[in-house]
Amino acid sequence: MTFSNLAQYFEKLEATSKRLELVDILSQLFRESSAEEIGKICYLIQGRVAPFYEPTELGMAESLVAQAIAKAYDASKDDVIKSYRHLGNMGLAAEKLSKAKRLKTKAVSVTEVFNELLKIAKFVGKGTVEQKVTTLSNILKSIDPISAKHVVNIPLGTLRLGIGDPTVMDALSIAKTGKKDLRPEIEDAYNKTSDLGYVAETFFKHGKNGIKNIKLVVGKPVRPALAERLPNAEEAVKRLGNTFAAEPKFDGFRVAVHKDGNNVKLFSRNLEDTTNAFPDIVEGAKTQIKAKSCILEGEAIAYNPLTEEFLPFQETTKRRRKYNIEEKAKELPLILFAFDVLYLNGKDVTAKPYKERRKLLESIVSADHTVVRIAEERILHTAGEITKFFNEEISEGLEGLMLKKLDAPYKAGGRGFHWIKFKRSQSGELSDTVDVVLLGVYTGRGKRTEFGVGGLLVGVYNEKKDRFETISRVGTGLTDEEFRKVNEISKKLRISHKPARVESKIEPSFWIEPKVVLEIFTDEITKSPIHTAGMNPSADGGVGYALRFPRLVRFREDDKRPEDATTVSEIEKLYKNQYVGKKSSK
Ligand code: ATP
Repeated sequence: MTFSNLAQYFEKLEATSKRLELVDILSQLFRESSAEEIGKICYLIQGRVAPFYEPTELGMAESLVAQAIAKAYDASKDDVIKSYRHLGNMGLAAEKLSKAKRLKTKAVSVTEVFNELLKIAKFVGKGTVEQKVTTLSNILKSIDPISAKHVVNIPLGTLRLGIGDPTVMDALSIAKTGKKDLRPEIEDAYNKTSDLGYVAETFFKHGKNGIKNIKLVVGKPVRPALAERLPNAEEAVKRLGNTFAAEPKFDGFRVAVHKDGNNVKLFSRNLEDTTNAFPDIVEGAKTQIKAKSCILEGEAIAYNPLTEEFLPFQETTKRRRKYNIEEKAKELPLILFAFDVLYLNGKDVTAKPYKERRKLLESIVSADHTVVRIAEERILHTAGEITKFFNEEISEGLEGLMLKKLDAPYKAGGRGFHWIKFKRSQSGELSDTVDVVLLGVYTGRGKRTEFGVGGLLVGVYNEKKDRFETISRVGTGLTDEEFRKVNEISKKLRISHKPARVESKIEPSFWIEPKVVLEIFTDEITKSPIHTAGMNPSADGGVGYALRFPRLVRFREDDKRPEDATTVSEIEKLYKNQYVGKKSSK
């Protein structure tokens, strides 16, 4: 396919925010794509040249991109910047200059442009800046104005086609079968590898059987298995049967260790490569995990080496940093409490029941190691035993319990009753928070004028419709510092129109690109005609869910992607559960 053809599809995608139309256009695009280029196209749609978890960035900000545009079209950098300021988008500035220059372009393929962009990401060492500028300018010289517009938005991270992973997966299935019927198989393969390009290429090359055979790969992050909530211990016993496992719920951050010999990679809850941030865990994994190759998961929590006490989350989270890594590692050492194994010595073990995986885990990590330790596990039978263990853990300063079904496989990318979480709230009672996505800000009044932000418009993720729906305005629980932080985020992610994947009946002062996740404590979930979360105009007269007295607990931009926020179906369950929960004796 020519890049020019792809750019025409980008134009069409940009012009709509309706999910069905997006799926339709994408499936037409995929039908025209060859097996060799489909993977690359999947990355380009997301404005990338690699899967999202790979830290492969083009490393060109506005100034360098402007330089490349100037060089391509014999303009001055100042003129490019002026035009950019006037038009509000660097892509539009490139398109305008390209049109005026009327260059003779040739039919460049998607693969050629992709490979050149990848080169830009890979240049290192002396002369890198010059090489990046020249390579981008050469690409621009060879393509038409519309293509230039979209290419320029890739290094800048401003190619916003408003397409989420579920939309791509539906379109892949439709492109091959005319229906969405292969979506479950595609999603399964995606959950195992987190790499849509790789899944799409395998699908196009080897069909349905090809993706069914996709296994975990050491080095490709696995979308994590997630826990369900239940209102009380009695309900949990009903779900789990009379024999189940219970483990302490550590309040740190989730770490997936991918080990192949002495080669160790770490991934976070939101599948970011965090290998460089935790050299102590990397070293621990090399020497304290007895496996040639494995993927295991655990929760990292900081402790005080003198008193051997666990530290609260606010301390643990100080280890998530880009600078002074070694120094902080000495000050706040981490223990990784391993709680599951997904892959061992060449074999994907996710299909084995939990109790067998636990045995495998016990054979490769022990309880007395300094860095990688196995999490304590107790086999329980009754609600009373749950309450007793829960109270013990709370008094040790831990967050609560995780209950696990003994015969359940590891379900990558899924929330289910195979794991049930019981958490303590700030006031000590059993309760939970919700994770919302920042969608807009209201400018401040009074004292808050100085922060630039007076309130936040937040939403949850509707996984069926692949969009974000509003659920609340948040104005309390934020410190001055946090208001300033929201203002900084707002300056970076502010956009002039409602983002493509946002459904809202209200208009904040500024819209924000849905990227940042916030944890919110709320008194109650109520129904509201103002918010769109879960709203189904035809079924219930247009009533959505809302949060009552929402307070900010913390920012979760480090460990959750917007699609990992609480979903509409979880809100529905929380709404139904909340009154049962209040009556619970826990
Ligand atoms: P979720 O991960 O379910 O979206 P969340 O990130 O807000 O929610 P929690 O609701 O606190 O996290 O519960 C799940 C998380 O608990 C896991 O992702 C993991 O990081 C952590 N965790 C702590 N201890 C354990 C354990 N023993 N087994 C599994 N997970 C644990």
